[in-house]
Amino acid sequence: MRTTLTWSERFGTHDMGDWAIYVPPVGLVEPDVHIDNPKRTARLRRLIVKTGLEERLDVVAPRRATVEEIEAVHSPEHVAAMQRVAEVGWGDAGGGFTPMNGESYDLALWSAGSVLTAVERVLDGHADRAWAIGRRSGHHASRDTGYGFCIFNNVAIAAAAAQRRGVERIAIVDIDAHHGNGTEAIFYDDPSVLTISLHEDRMFPLETGGADARGGPGAEGANINVPLWPGTGDAGYLYAFDEIVVPALDAFAPQLLLVCAGVDGSMYDPLSTWGLTAGGFAEVARRLVGVAERHCGGRAVFEQEGGYSPVYAPFCWLKLLEVLADAPLSEDPFAPFLAGAGFTFLADHQRALVDDLAVRLLPTEARTS
Ligand SMILES: [Zn+2]
Repeated sequence: MRTTLTWSERFGTHDMGDWAIYVPPVGLVEPDVHIDNPKRTARLRRLIVKTGLEERLDVVAPRRATVEEIEAVHSPEHVAAMQRVAEVGWGDAGGGFTPMNGESYDLALWSAGSVLTAVERVLDGHADRAWAIGRRSGHHASRDTGYGFCIFNNVAIAAAAAQRRGVERIAIVDIDAHHGNGTEAIFYDDPSVLTISLHEDRMFPLETGGADARGGPGAEGANINVPLWPGTGDAGYLYAFDEIVVPALDAFAPQLLLVCAGVDGSMYDPLSTWGLTAGGFAEVARRLVGVAERHCGGRAVFEQEGGYSPVYAPFCWLKLLEVLADAPLSEDPFAPFLAGAGFTFLADHQRALVDDLAVRLLPTEARTS
């Protein structure tokens, strides 16, 4: 079993500098490190070395995506706009909080290229599984705009490339705590790509992610949104996986599994209130690897998305990657602090929410009960 890790040193250094939050009417509060900074990714890279996990991985330098590959899912106008920002040296990719500097456009091409490289490694038979590190994230970027720290939709670009190579059924599972709105929009009318997003209910983006968004005409059921409440915890999250995500994947039987590996649902993340633990992410990875083994000839590519706790996100990513690489699990240094937090028990209201969603989202024959 071979697992590829795609990595460029630039992913661990691309920095937007400090930021300040505007608080009306007093103005800007004092600057701090931007929440989407490269330290978390650099820390993951060091953990991979320090824990010995690197010995189980083929570390591969990614290639850069071409403009043609980007334009398979984005409009030429969006690509041109991002190019212009790079020439000016400063700007925003969309929404007013997706800062770019003179390097960001190039880094976005390399980030998309990182997922393309990972998918190529798997499709070419050089690896069974792959983990693509990138910097910048992608799942909020849609055809005509960047959004939510994302410039280009890396996983969608890689899925489109796999389609061109003849892969007929692709599943994209987005475990990030925020809705994969860009990926949903890009493949909304395509029944050959099953998009599943678990996210905190009505958090970000506020206006998307409802369970009633099921796919466009001819693609009904090919988009599945699983909005879960604050305080979901490992038990609620895994229950949703077992009752909705895994049955949906088994019914679809993908030939290639792509995972948007966001860990911003973790206990210490400033951008969600789910309270997941690294151990919970390991269980998520086990379920996804199982799906890949059952349907995809083992082929699974995880690509990195959000994760904003500088201390905890790297350990959560590490845990996903350890399971992906069939490596022994390292110790979660935060586990002693989380053991009694109460997020590991399934509450009745969580069970009821997930059971209700399963009835709404899955055909009768795919349901577990
Ligand atoms: Zn996120």
